[in-house]
Amino acid sequence: MRALVTGGAGFIGSHVCERLLQSGYGEVICVDNFLTGSPENVAHLAGHSGFRLIEHDVIHGIDADGPLDVVLHLASPASPADYLRHPLETLRVGSEGTRHALELATTHGARFVFASTSETYGDPHVHPQPESYWGHVNPVGPRSCYDEAKRYAEAITMAYRRSRGTDTAIVRIFNTFGPRMRPGDGRVVPTLISQALAGVPLTVTGDGTQTRSLCYVDDLVDGLLRIVRSPLTGPVNLGNPLEVSMHELARWIRRLTGSTSPIVSLPLPVDDPKRRQPDISLAESELGWAPRTTVEDGLLQTIQWFTDTPCPRVLAPAAAATTTE
Ligand code: NAD
Repeated sequence: MRALVTGGAGFIGSHVCERLLQSGYGEVICVDNFLTGSPENVAHLAGHSGFRLIEHDVIHGIDADGPLDVVLHLASPASPADYLRHPLETLRVGSEGTRHALELATTHGARFVFASTSETYGDPHVHPQPESYWGHVNPVGPRSCYDEAKRYAEAITMAYRRSRGTDTAIVRIFNTFGPRMRPGDGRVVPTLISQALAGVPLTVTGDGTQTRSLCYVDDLVDGLLRIVRSPLTGPVNLGNPLEVSMHELARWIRRLTGSTSPIVSLPLPVDDPKRRQPDISLAESELGWAPRTTVEDGLLQTIQWFTDTPCPRVLAPAAAATTTE
Protein backbone atom coordinates (compact mmCIF):
# COMPACT_ATOMS: atom_id res chain seq x y z
CA MET A 1 0.00 0.00 0.00
CA ARG A 2 1.24 3.52 -0.87
CA ALA A 3 -0.10 6.68 0.70
CA LEU A 4 0.58 10.34 0.05
CA VAL A 5 0.02 12.76 2.94
CA THR A 6 -0.11 16.48 2.21
CA GLY A 7 0.81 18.52 5.30
CA GLY A 8 2.54 15.40 6.62
CA ALA A 9 5.21 17.38 8.46
CA GLY A 10 2.64 19.18 10.59
CA PHE A 11 1.31 18.24 14.00
CA ILE A 12 -1.42 15.76 12.98
CA GLY A 13 0.22 14.84 9.64
CA SER A 14 3.41 13.63 11.33
CA HIS A 15 1.37 11.27 13.54
CA VAL A 16 -0.56 10.09 10.47
CA CYS A 17 2.67 9.27 8.55
CA GLU A 18 4.03 7.43 11.57
CA ARG A 19 0.85 5.39 12.06
CA LEU A 20 0.55 4.50 8.36
CA LEU A 21 4.07 3.06 8.40
CA GLN A 22 3.37 1.21 11.66
CA SER A 23 0.19 -0.26 10.23
CA GLY A 24 2.00 -1.84 7.29
CA TYR A 25 1.98 0.75 4.48
CA GLY A 26 4.98 -0.01 2.30
CA GLU A 27 5.49 3.62 1.30
CA VAL A 28 4.37 6.92 2.75
CA ILE A 29 5.10 10.09 0.79
CA CYS A 30 4.92 13.23 2.90
CA VAL A 31 4.49 16.47 0.92
CA ASP A 32 4.88 19.69 2.87
CA ASN A 33 6.11 23.24 2.29
CA PHE A 34 6.91 23.72 6.02
CA LEU A 35 4.74 26.83 6.24
CA THR A 36 3.54 25.81 9.70
CA GLY A 37 5.13 22.38 10.00
CA SER A 38 8.73 21.29 10.23
CA PRO A 39 11.00 18.48 8.99
CA GLU A 40 11.82 17.90 12.68
CA ASN A 41 8.31 16.49 13.17
CA VAL A 42 9.15 13.58 10.87
CA ALA A 43 12.91 13.37 11.49
CA HIS A 44 12.40 10.12 13.42
CA LEU A 45 10.92 8.54 10.25
CA ALA A 46 13.88 9.45 8.04
CA GLY A 47 15.56 6.07 8.57
CA HIS A 48 12.45 4.13 7.52
CA SER A 49 12.94 2.71 4.03
CA GLY A 50 9.29 3.39 3.11
CA PHE A 51 9.24 7.06 4.10
CA ARG A 52 9.81 9.93 1.64
CA LEU A 53 9.71 13.60 2.55
CA ILE A 54 9.18 16.06 -0.30
CA GLU A 55 9.36 19.80 0.26
CA HIS A 56 6.71 21.22 -2.03
CA ASP A 57 3.81 23.69 -2.05
CA VAL A 58 0.68 21.78 -3.12
CA ILE A 59 -0.94 24.89 -4.60
CA HIS A 60 1.40 24.33 -7.58
CA GLY A 61 0.16 20.79 -8.27
CA ILE A 62 1.18 17.40 -6.88
CA ASP A 63 3.04 14.66 -8.74
CA ALA A 64 3.61 11.11 -7.61
CA ASP A 65 5.26 8.40 -9.66
CA GLY A 66 3.90 4.89 -9.35
CA PRO A 67 0.57 3.73 -7.97
CA LEU A 68 -1.18 5.34 -5.01
CA ASP A 69 -3.85 3.81 -2.79
CA VAL A 70 -4.63 6.75 -0.53
CA VAL A 71 -4.26 10.53 -0.58
CA LEU A 72 -4.74 12.15 2.81
CA HIS A 73 -5.05 15.90 2.33
CA LEU A 74 -4.08 17.67 5.54
CA ALA A 75 -2.10 20.62 4.19
CA SER A 76 -3.39 23.89 5.63
CA PRO A 77 -2.51 26.24 8.42
CA ALA A 78 -4.79 25.18 11.28
CA SER A 79 -4.15 27.42 14.26
CA PRO A 80 -5.97 30.78 14.23
CA ALA A 81 -2.65 32.56 14.81
CA ASP A 82 -1.22 30.82 11.72
CA TYR A 83 -4.13 31.36 9.34
CA LEU A 84 -4.60 34.97 10.43
CA ARG A 85 -0.91 35.48 9.59
CA HIS A 86 -1.30 33.60 6.26
CA PRO A 87 -4.87 34.25 5.04
CA LEU A 88 -4.09 34.06 1.32
CA GLU A 89 -1.96 30.93 1.65
CA THR A 90 -4.80 29.37 3.66
CA LEU A 91 -7.38 30.15 0.98
CA ARG A 92 -5.08 28.93 -1.77
CA VAL A 93 -4.22 25.61 -0.13
CA GLY A 94 -7.92 25.06 0.64
CA SER A 95 -8.93 25.79 -2.95
CA GLU A 96 -6.09 25.13 -5.42
CA GLY A 97 -4.29 22.72 -3.10
CA THR A 98 -7.43 20.66 -2.59
CA ARG A 99 -8.16 20.58 -6.31
CA HIS A 100 -4.64 19.30 -7.03
CA ALA A 101 -4.93 16.66 -4.29
CA LEU A 102 -8.28 15.55 -5.76
CA GLU A 103 -6.80 15.40 -9.28
CA LEU A 104 -3.97 13.24 -7.98
CA ALA A 105 -6.36 10.85 -6.21
CA THR A 106 -8.65 10.69 -9.25
CA THR A 107 -5.79 9.98 -11.68
CA HIS A 108 -4.46 7.16 -9.48
CA GLY A 109 -7.86 5.76 -8.49
CA ALA A 110 -6.84 6.37 -4.88
CA ARG A 111 -9.10 6.95 -1.89
CA PHE A 112 -9.11 10.67 -0.98
CA VAL A 113 -9.55 11.72 2.64
CA PHE A 114 -9.95 15.42 3.34
CA ALA A 115 -9.15 16.89 6.76
CA SER A 116 -11.95 19.38 7.24
CA THR A 117 -12.79 21.04 10.52
CA SER A 118 -15.40 21.82 13.13
CA GLU A 119 -14.83 25.45 12.04
CA THR A 120 -17.21 24.74 9.15
CA TYR A 121 -19.92 25.01 11.86
CA GLY A 122 -18.67 28.52 12.76
CA ASP A 123 -20.16 29.90 16.00
CA PRO A 124 -22.85 27.20 16.10
CA HIS A 125 -26.53 27.71 16.87
CA VAL A 126 -27.02 23.95 17.23
CA HIS A 127 -25.38 22.12 20.10
CA PRO A 128 -23.77 19.59 20.02
CA GLN A 129 -23.00 19.75 16.31
CA PRO A 130 -24.16 16.85 14.11
CA GLU A 131 -22.88 16.54 10.54
CA SER A 132 -26.31 17.57 9.25
CA TYR A 133 -25.90 21.08 10.72
CA TRP A 134 -25.00 23.60 7.99
CA GLY A 135 -23.18 25.96 10.31
CA HIS A 136 -23.10 29.62 11.23
CA VAL A 137 -20.00 31.14 9.64
CA ASN A 138 -19.21 34.82 9.14
CA PRO A 139 -18.11 34.77 5.46
CA VAL A 140 -16.23 38.08 5.67
CA GLY A 141 -14.77 38.00 9.20
CA PRO A 142 -11.04 37.48 9.85
CA ARG A 143 -11.53 33.71 10.41
CA SER A 144 -13.34 33.31 7.10
CA CYS A 145 -10.05 32.62 5.26
CA TYR A 146 -9.95 29.29 7.09
CA ASP A 147 -13.63 28.49 7.56
CA GLU A 148 -14.60 29.29 3.98
CA ALA A 149 -11.50 27.63 2.53
CA LYS A 150 -12.55 24.43 4.29
CA ARG A 151 -16.18 24.81 3.22
CA TYR A 152 -15.07 25.31 -0.39
CA ALA A 153 -12.76 22.31 -0.08
CA GLU A 154 -15.68 20.18 1.12
CA ALA A 155 -17.76 21.40 -1.84
CA ILE A 156 -15.09 20.60 -4.43
CA THR A 157 -14.52 17.21 -2.80
CA MET A 158 -18.21 16.38 -3.24
CA ALA A 159 -18.15 17.75 -6.80
CA TYR A 160 -15.24 15.44 -7.72
CA ARG A 161 -17.13 12.54 -6.18
CA ARG A 162 -20.29 13.34 -8.12
CA SER A 163 -18.78 14.33 -11.46
CA ARG A 164 -15.56 12.30 -11.63
CA GLY A 165 -16.41 9.33 -9.44
CA THR A 166 -13.49 9.96 -7.05
CA ASP A 167 -13.58 7.79 -3.92
CA THR A 168 -13.75 10.61 -1.34
CA ALA A 169 -14.29 11.05 2.37
CA ILE A 170 -14.60 14.24 4.43
CA VAL A 171 -13.63 14.29 8.10
CA ARG A 172 -14.59 17.22 10.33
CA ILE A 173 -11.89 17.31 12.97
CA PHE A 174 -12.61 18.98 16.31
CA ASN A 175 -9.86 20.45 18.51
CA THR A 176 -7.03 17.95 18.71
CA PHE A 177 -3.97 18.14 20.94
CA GLY A 178 -0.82 16.21 21.71
CA PRO A 179 2.95 16.03 21.24
CA ARG A 180 4.50 18.07 18.36
CA MET A 181 2.20 21.05 18.69
CA ARG A 182 4.30 24.21 18.60
CA PRO A 183 4.38 26.14 21.88
CA GLY A 184 4.00 29.39 19.93
CA ASP A 185 1.22 28.27 17.57
CA GLY A 186 -1.46 30.10 19.56
CA ARG A 187 -3.66 27.06 20.20
CA VAL A 188 -4.92 26.76 23.73
CA VAL A 189 -3.29 23.51 24.91
CA PRO A 190 0.32 24.23 23.83
CA THR A 191 -0.06 27.84 24.95
CA LEU A 192 -1.22 26.95 28.46
CA ILE A 193 1.23 24.07 28.92
CA SER A 194 4.25 26.06 27.77
CA GLN A 195 3.21 29.00 29.96
CA ALA A 196 2.72 26.74 33.00
CA LEU A 197 6.09 25.05 32.48
CA ALA A 198 7.83 28.40 32.03
CA GLY A 199 6.23 29.80 35.19
CA VAL A 200 4.59 32.74 33.40
CA PRO A 201 0.88 33.68 33.70
CA LEU A 202 -1.61 31.37 31.93
CA THR A 203 -3.73 33.27 29.41
CA VAL A 204 -7.39 32.58 28.70
CA THR A 205 -9.46 34.77 26.41
CA GLY A 206 -12.65 36.54 27.43
CA ASP A 207 -14.17 35.30 30.67
CA GLY A 208 -12.96 31.74 29.94
CA THR A 209 -16.50 30.27 29.89
CA GLN A 210 -16.26 29.42 26.17
CA THR A 211 -15.89 25.68 25.66
CA ARG A 212 -13.95 23.33 23.42
CA SER A 213 -13.88 19.56 23.12
CA LEU A 214 -10.34 18.22 23.14
CA CYS A 215 -9.34 14.99 21.44
CA TYR A 216 -5.96 13.35 21.97
CA VAL A 217 -4.04 12.99 18.71
CA ASP A 218 -3.62 9.19 18.90
CA ASP A 219 -7.40 8.74 19.00
CA LEU A 220 -7.92 11.17 16.14
CA VAL A 221 -5.38 9.36 13.97
CA ASP A 222 -7.07 6.06 14.80
CA GLY A 223 -10.34 7.55 13.51
CA LEU A 224 -8.66 8.85 10.35
CA LEU A 225 -7.21 5.42 9.57
CA ARG A 226 -10.59 3.80 10.12
CA ILE A 227 -12.05 6.18 7.55
CA VAL A 228 -9.29 5.34 5.09
CA ARG A 229 -10.28 1.66 5.38
CA SER A 230 -14.05 2.29 5.29
CA PRO A 231 -16.36 3.12 2.37
CA LEU A 232 -17.76 6.12 4.32
CA THR A 233 -18.18 9.38 2.37
CA GLY A 234 -18.96 11.69 5.27
CA PRO A 235 -18.76 14.33 6.36
CA VAL A 236 -18.05 12.61 9.63
CA ASN A 237 -17.18 14.31 12.91
CA LEU A 238 -14.11 13.14 14.82
CA GLY A 239 -13.58 14.62 18.25
CA ASN A 240 -14.01 14.09 21.95
CA PRO A 241 -17.51 15.03 23.14
CA LEU A 242 -16.22 15.99 26.60
CA GLU A 243 -16.79 19.74 26.73
CA VAL A 244 -14.45 21.82 28.85
CA SER A 245 -14.42 25.56 29.50
CA MET A 246 -11.17 27.39 28.83
CA HIS A 247 -10.98 28.51 32.44
CA GLU A 248 -11.42 24.91 33.66
CA LEU A 249 -8.71 23.82 31.22
CA ALA A 250 -6.27 26.44 32.52
CA ARG A 251 -6.88 25.28 36.09
CA TRP A 252 -6.53 21.64 35.01
CA ILE A 253 -3.16 22.27 33.32
CA ARG A 254 -1.99 24.32 36.27
CA ARG A 255 -2.76 21.39 38.59
CA LEU A 256 -1.14 18.76 36.35
CA THR A 257 2.07 20.79 35.92
CA GLY A 258 2.22 21.84 39.56
CA SER A 259 2.38 25.46 38.41
CA THR A 260 1.54 28.35 40.70
CA SER A 261 1.16 30.87 37.85
CA PRO A 262 -1.87 33.17 37.92
CA ILE A 263 -4.56 32.86 35.25
CA VAL A 264 -5.01 36.09 33.30
CA SER A 265 -7.61 37.16 30.77
CA LEU A 266 -7.03 38.57 27.27
CA PRO A 267 -9.68 40.09 24.96
CA LEU A 268 -11.84 37.52 23.13
CA PRO A 269 -10.86 37.21 19.43
CA VAL A 270 -13.41 38.30 16.80
CA ASP A 271 -15.99 35.58 15.92
CA ASP A 272 -14.54 33.18 18.49
CA PRO A 273 -17.03 30.28 18.84
CA LYS A 274 -18.64 30.18 22.28
CA ARG A 275 -19.29 26.45 22.38
CA ARG A 276 -17.98 23.42 20.55
CA GLN A 277 -18.97 19.81 21.04
CA PRO A 278 -19.06 17.09 18.39
CA ASP A 279 -21.98 14.73 17.96
CA ILE A 280 -20.00 11.57 17.17
CA SER A 281 -22.94 9.15 16.72
CA LEU A 282 -22.03 8.64 13.05
CA ALA A 283 -18.39 7.76 13.80
CA GLU A 284 -19.55 5.45 16.58
CA SER A 285 -22.09 3.58 14.46
CA GLU A 286 -20.25 3.49 11.11
CA LEU A 287 -16.62 3.23 12.21
CA GLY A 288 -16.94 1.79 15.70
CA TRP A 289 -14.84 4.76 16.78
CA ALA A 290 -14.86 6.81 19.96
CA PRO A 291 -11.96 8.46 21.76
CA ARG A 292 -10.32 6.14 24.27
CA THR A 293 -7.71 8.39 25.88
CA THR A 294 -9.02 10.50 28.74
CA VAL A 295 -8.30 14.20 28.43
CA GLU A 296 -6.27 13.98 31.64
CA ASP A 297 -4.05 11.20 30.23
CA GLY A 298 -3.66 13.09 26.97
CA LEU A 299 -2.70 16.25 28.84
CA LEU A 300 -0.15 14.33 30.94
CA GLN A 301 1.45 12.84 27.81
CA THR A 302 1.54 16.25 26.15
CA ILE A 303 3.01 17.88 29.26
CA GLN A 304 5.69 15.18 29.32
CA TRP A 305 6.55 15.90 25.69
CA PHE A 306 6.77 19.64 26.32
CA THR A 307 8.94 18.95 29.38
CA ASP A 308 11.33 16.81 27.32
CA THR A 309 11.41 19.16 24.32
CA PRO A 310 13.06 22.55 24.47
CA CYS A 311 10.42 25.28 24.03
CA PRO A 312 12.10 28.43 22.74
CA ARG A 313 8.92 30.42 22.22
CA VAL A 314 6.61 30.77 25.20
CA LEU A 315 3.68 33.08 24.69
CA ALA A 316 4.04 35.75 27.32
CA PRO A 317 0.73 37.47 28.10
CA ALA A 318 0.17 40.87 26.56
CA ALA A 319 0.31 43.90 28.79
CA ALA A 320 -3.48 44.19 28.42
CA ALA A 321 -4.03 40.94 30.36
CA THR A 322 -6.06 41.15 33.56
CA THR A 323 -5.60 38.67 36.40
CA THR A 324 -8.67 36.52 37.07
CA GLU A 325 -7.28 34.00 39.53
P1 NAD B 1 -0.28 22.11 11.23
O1 NAD B 1 -0.20 23.56 10.92
O2 NAD B 1 0.59 21.57 12.30
O3 NAD B 1 -0.04 21.23 9.93
C1 NAD B 1 -0.40 21.65 8.65
C2 NAD B 1 0.73 21.28 7.70
O4 NAD B 1 0.37 21.69 6.37
C3 NAD B 1 2.03 21.97 8.04
O5 NAD B 1 3.08 21.04 8.08
C4 NAD B 1 2.22 22.97 6.89
O6 NAD B 1 3.56 23.29 6.64
C5 NAD B 1 1.52 22.24 5.76
N1 NAD B 1 1.09 23.11 4.67
C6 NAD B 1 0.36 24.25 4.74
N2 NAD B 1 0.17 24.78 3.52
C7 NAD B 1 0.78 23.92 2.64
C8 NAD B 1 0.95 23.94 1.24
N3 NAD B 1 0.42 24.91 0.47
N4 NAD B 1 1.65 22.93 0.67
C9 NAD B 1 2.18 21.93 1.42
N5 NAD B 1 2.06 21.89 2.76
C10 NAD B 1 1.37 22.88 3.37
O7 NAD B 1 -1.81 21.81 11.56
P2 NAD B 1 -2.49 20.50 12.14
O8 NAD B 1 -3.07 20.84 13.43
O9 NAD B 1 -1.58 19.36 12.02
O10 NAD B 1 -3.70 20.34 11.11
C11 NAD B 1 -3.65 19.41 10.03
C12 NAD B 1 -4.96 19.46 9.26
O11 NAD B 1 -6.04 19.10 10.13
C13 NAD B 1 -5.28 20.84 8.70
O12 NAD B 1 -5.86 20.70 7.43
C14 NAD B 1 -6.30 21.38 9.67
O13 NAD B 1 -7.18 22.29 9.07
C15 NAD B 1 -7.02 20.11 10.11
N6 NAD B 1 -7.60 20.29 11.45
C16 NAD B 1 -6.83 20.31 12.56
C17 NAD B 1 -7.41 20.50 13.81
C18 NAD B 1 -6.60 20.51 15.08
O14 NAD B 1 -7.18 20.67 16.16
N7 NAD B 1 -5.30 20.33 15.04
C19 NAD B 1 -8.79 20.70 13.91
C20 NAD B 1 -9.55 20.71 12.74
C21 NAD B 1 -8.96 20.47 11.51
